[in-house]
Amino acid sequence: MKKYQNKINKIRSFALALIFIGFVVMYGAIFFRENPILVIIFMTLGLICIFGSVIVYGWIGLLSTRAVQVVCPGCGKHTKVLGRVDMCMYCNEPLTLDPTLEGKEFDQAYNKKK
Ligand SMILES: [Zn+2]
Repeated sequence: MKKYQNKINKIRSFALALIFIGFVVMYGAIFFRENPILVIIFMTLGLICIFGSVIVYGWIGLLSTRAVQVVCPGCGKHTKVLGRVDMCMYCNEPLTLDPTLEGKEFDQAYNKKK
């Protein structure tokens, strides 16, 4: 069975991973300090990753304002639903905003536009 995750959480962990990759790549530049060209390449790559992460964080902010806040029936916490189907941020309970999909098995494909 495929593991699904709340979309906002997923994007957030991606942004966090980008920051780490950026720092690791920039740290890698230290090992090539003999070669200025490699240092510049590594520093630029690291900066691109960190800038990318900032953009992704801004994007999450935008998405969050568009997401619908609901109370999860599974754990009773407030969570955000993005798209037609999404998972609870806390307990991974599948949630849907579309009454026609209620009771159906969770499928990420419902979010794809036809
Ligand atoms: Zn929940």
